[in-house]
Amino acid sequence: MARSFHLEILIPERVFFSETVEAVNVKTQDGEIGILSGHMPLVSTIDIGPIKIKKDGKWLEAFLSGGYIEILQDSVTIIADTAEWPWEIDINRAKAAEERAREKLRNRLSQVEYLQAQAALQRALTRLRVTRKLK
Ligand code: ATP
Repeated sequence: MARSFHLEILIPERVFFSETVEAVNVKTQDGEIGILSGHMPLVSTIDIGPIKIKKDGKWLEAFLSGGYIEILQDSVTIIADTAEWPWEIDINRAKAAEERAREKLRNRLSQVEYLQAQAALQRALTRLRVTRKLK
């Protein structure tokens, strides 16, 4: 059996996840990383993307918006702006957010507006992608 470690995911409203797991895949600023027990210590920022968690031999997936990750010898802590399980995601809301972001991106935008709209589009598309596996 794979060695396990503790994963804690904190979001502003609650402790989203706090359990012993076998593996985690997450998108950091340096690309996607796979974390197993004994991973070298690391602090990084995380991008909008799905997080995959292996627990009791099964993979779980959730939506994660930007945040920070700290990897220590036998624990991983993630502090995120938002995290949602697939069944918590309102698909119509994500589709509406996608449409709003695409509409915005058709206009002339300042650099900040452009980056905000790109991030909103990325959040919406990732939420929709995470819910697709529910079916
Ligand atoms: P929207 O424009 O629909 O608010 P957003 O990407 O700007 O989308 P966030 O800033 O990422 O939203 O999240 C704000 C809050 O709304 C968070 O608590 C998040 O969990 C919740 N949220 C956003 N979109 C959805 C969704 N499609 N389904 C469920 N909760 C959502």
